[in-house]
Amino acid sequence: MPAYRHARRKANYLPFTIAVCAVIAVIIITVIVIVATSGDEPTHSANTTTTATATTRPADTTAQSTTISTTAATTSGSATGNRTSGSGNAGNSGSGSGAGGAYGSSDNMLYTGSLLTVPASGSVTKTQKEVKYGLQILVNNDYDYDENQPTDHVMMTAFSDRAYKVAYTDLNADRFTLQQFNRMTADYKKIYPNEYLQVCSGYRTIATQRRNFNNSVAADGLEETLKWFSKPGYSEHHTGFSIDFNTNAYGSAAFTGKGNQVWFSKNCHKYGFILRYQADKYDITRINAEPWHFRQVGIPHADYIMKNNLCLEEYIEKIKNYSHDNPLTITPDAGGTYNVYYVKSTGASTVIDLSGYKSYYCSGNNVDGFIITAQK
Ligand SMILES: [Zn+2]
Repeated sequence: MPAYRHARRKANYLPFTIAVCAVIAVIIITVIVIVATSGDEPTHSANTTTTATATTRPADTTAQSTTISTTAATTSGSATGNRTSGSGNAGNSGSGSGAGGAYGSSDNMLYTGSLLTVPASGSVTKTQKEVKYGLQILVNNDYDYDENQPTDHVMMTAFSDRAYKVAYTDLNADRFTLQQFNRMTADYKKIYPNEYLQVCSGYRTIATQRRNFNNSVAADGLEETLKWFSKPGYSEHHTGFSIDFNTNAYGSAAFTGKGNQVWFSKNCHKYGFILRYQADKYDITRINAEPWHFRQVGIPHADYIMKNNLCLEEYIEKIKNYSHDNPLTITPDAGGTYNVYYVKSTGASTVIDLSGYKSYYCSGNNVDGFIITAQK
């Protein structure tokens, strides 16, 4: 096409181009507002009559209304909780030695901060249901959370020395997750003593999610609801391994992950946390960027995930390339050397080969097999 015609055509299209740009700008601003105010599964509301109306709706800021009955037993300081076995030394000793470590004599897949001693047989056997249990499970819109697994939840308010405020007195989370979260936030406050931190979400029951979801559907319809809620059973908050910093402005500073808060995305892996939902992984997670949502997966895994810019979905797939005979070796910033590998579930019972290792932890991946973390 001759240059002059090109120029003329450009001129003719100029008003149209301006109009298109204006429309795009409006769309972008709208998207920004929605992203800024949405959540992975905004609990928004216990009073869901107000849901789905406003772009001012803050994510994950409303009351949890969690069922505390399952966690009450652990709040007194007794570490027995509702785990199915174990003497209950849930301390974060990190020793990894001793008979059964913190699990007692049985491997119930509840991670309490120490690897377990490999039995003399050099293997353990896992059941089909245990694919859905453990610290490294993937929970998203494809893979739901099984509430039957052993848990040990602790009230956040049980820690008087915590470095953050809790938005709701009934907030609670997995004990190991909370211990690591407390360490992380305490270290942050040592560096930035004047920074304000508040937490607004931790463990959430499926029943709570279902009630909020159904209320929203009744008020606003399914389509609108799905923009704001994870389906009941499919929220990562069911695991107790996820904690949200406050995101709203109700008497507190928002958590944007910017400014001094960049420290968290740079250092969370040292405490076993990953920044679960990042903008560049939206195509995979289908969750908007959430700078406030941190998920505990264990230190070596978090180290590898954050340093290699993976989301949990990608990591779960990647680990399938590693086996007992060809493990992934991880040497995290926090210390130690770990071998990580995958064992596909073979159905009713799966034998996990641990030969050559002294200590291990076995988690299901919640998809089709097991992730082994082992040390020699
Ligand atoms: Zn969250």
